[in-house]
Amino acid sequence: MSDTILEDIFIKRSQQKKKTSPLNFKERLFVLTQEKISYYEYDVEKRKKKCLKGTVDVDKIKCVETVFPEQSAPIERQFPFQIIYDEGPLYIFAKSDEIRKRWIHKLKQVVQFNKDLAQKYHPSFWMEGMWQCCMQEVKQAMGCQVLDTKNRGFFSNASRRKSRKPLPPTPQEETSPQSFPPQPPLQPRTSSCKGFAVTAEYDFAPMSNQELELQKGEEYTVLEMSETNWWRARDKYGKEGYIPSNYVTKAGNGLETYDWYCKNMNRSQAENLLKLENKDGGFLVRDSSKAGKYTVSVFTRIGGETVGSCKHYNICIKPQGLFYLAEKHSFNSIPELIHYHQHNSAGMVSRLKYVVSNKAKNAPSTAGLGYGVWEIDPRHLTFIKELGNGQFGVVKYGRWQKHHDVAIKMIKEGSMSEDDFIAEAKVMMKLRHENLVQLYGVCTKQRPIYIVTEFLPKGCLLDYLRDSHKKPTSIQLLEMCKDVSEGMAYLESQRYIHRDLAARNCLVDSNGTIKVTDFGLSRYVLDDEYTSSAGSKFPVRWAPPEVLLYSKFSSKSDIWAFGVLMWEVYTLGKTPYELLNNTDIAQKVPAGLRLYRPQLANDRIYGIMTICWYEKPEERPTFQDLVTTVEDLLYELQ
Ligand code: ADP
Ligand code: MG
Repeated sequence: MSDTILEDIFIKRSQQKKKTSPLNFKERLFVLTQEKISYYEYDVEKRKKKCLKGTVDVDKIKCVETVFPEQSAPIERQFPFQIIYDEGPLYIFAKSDEIRKRWIHKLKQVVQFNKDLAQKYHPSFWMEGMWQCCMQEVKQAMGCQVLDTKNRGFFSNASRRKSRKPLPPTPQEETSPQSFPPQPPLQPRTSSCKGFAVTAEYDFAPMSNQELELQKGEEYTVLEMSETNWWRARDKYGKEGYIPSNYVTKAGNGLETYDWYCKNMNRSQAENLLKLENKDGGFLVRDSSKAGKYTVSVFTRIGGETVGSCKHYNICIKPQGLFYLAEKHSFNSIPELIHYHQHNSAGMVSRLKYVVSNKAKNAPSTAGLGYGVWEIDPRHLTFIKELGNGQFGVVKYGRWQKHHDVAIKMIKEGSMSEDDFIAEAKVMMKLRHENLVQLYGVCTKQRPIYIVTEFLPKGCLLDYLRDSHKKPTSIQLLEMCKDVSEGMAYLESQRYIHRDLAARNCLVDSNGTIKVTDFGLSRYVLDDEYTSSAGSKFPVRWAPPEVLLYSKFSSKSDIWAFGVLMWEVYTLGKTPYELLNNTDIAQKVPAGLRLYRPQLANDRIYGIMTICWYEKPEERPTFQDLVTTVEDLLYELQ
């Protein structure tokens, strides 16, 4: 028998195998091992498991995700999650969001190599013969929502590979650089559903009368989720419209509604923000670099010194599920823990005196400038300054409708295969991730056509690295790699190949976050020097042997390029194979030449680069593997 990984008492919903059978909810002891989930009747008094009630084989699991709680769910059923396996959904209710997160995280780790992992899921329950989210009446109907990468533990939370099992073949390999990548599966057409409650995490001002205004902290009812990025919702006055799905969170759950919680903030960003506020006892709680864990960052000026410093404390969890910073003081939830330490330092450098939050300032970008908007009226654009000159011509900084910052690529005539690009733009617009530069829309009714994207004030990563005043710390360098790997892991999950990943195609946001740009664009370049692997502008220095020899692009060729990008990061922007010309590189790399270890990279960092440069594409890691490896390394550095 294999070892127990997790054990907890949950409420289990009966599986309603017949449409008419009544639902019931029973307390069961759940035990997870590497092979199965077993659930038992449990004797609370004797604290003993009684008889085995059922099992689910781990290798049959297709998806593990949270579920929105039922409307007016009782208190003990606020934290449901679902395990989808060959017999359908198994619904389990955890006692807290944290326990639920721990199970989901672990489960995703153990199922990460399963064959039939789903790309989509149903965010609401199967009930009364119907999926409550999309009203489909077939239990086997494909999910109506694409798994969010942040939650997509199959990838982002995947544990580091312990033994080098052969990786599954990549489905996205292509031989022609000009062919289209497979498109994400079509979303089912859905009617409106009963709705569930969400809370706005950010203010959102409608761009047209199609959208609904959001006010931070207010509750809204989601009516329809047939589009991943724009949901139809109703406010408390009964007004309806579309809202950006990344601006809201499940009502009453999680930490998102607390001002001190800064989701997606890394260590360096937390330090910058705390230093900017410069208050002794200023603090925030952020996601730790390890998925599913949290860190408290505190700023202090001990003894009133002028230059303060930041301390980072990982929130630990006891086997019973209690949270603590100081082992003597443990709590059922993170908010209770924070509340305690707001009044007691209990071993920390300071008690938590001031909440430091950047939520209001940094609302994330939306997928497009409004629901269904992708053709932008050029009269709504104002041009402010030139940012640079690229393959397609001039790039300018400007505003859309006077107050939204945007970058505008003005496509030089004859430089792009425009019709093909315009057809693809609709697909590209649906790609949304905090480490990808968002495509907002296009102006195609005039020449030159414009591509309008999110604007990143600190410009291109390569220039940023080369700026000798910056002197990034080793943590910052690794955080840059983590940002890029997360954006790329999302593209990989969408089966989208970048084809031109390099530091010059990454941009830096005002808070130092790195975002990947120009994904897939190289397919529309009309310039043989750029598109042919023998051309002078072809990114030979970022290309693996199979691209140099057979133009075979895949997510695995992106992985190779990522290794080179890491090398650029750790050399602060050196040119790879500096002393060689393209022809030499195209000969020597297939023969085994690799980049040397940069001085700033230790053996473990260089180890990551070198596995990206394995000759055989199938032996290279996935981006999801890389995210986990980089997360683990960062966690050790905290
Ligand atoms: P292309 O991809 O067409 O060759 P680039 O994307 O490299 O052109 O753009 C040229 C320069 O413009 C970049 O080096 C960068 O400094 C700047 N730039 C491009 N897009 C943005 C953006 N979204 N935000 C800020 N600066 C940008
Ligand atoms: Mg570019």
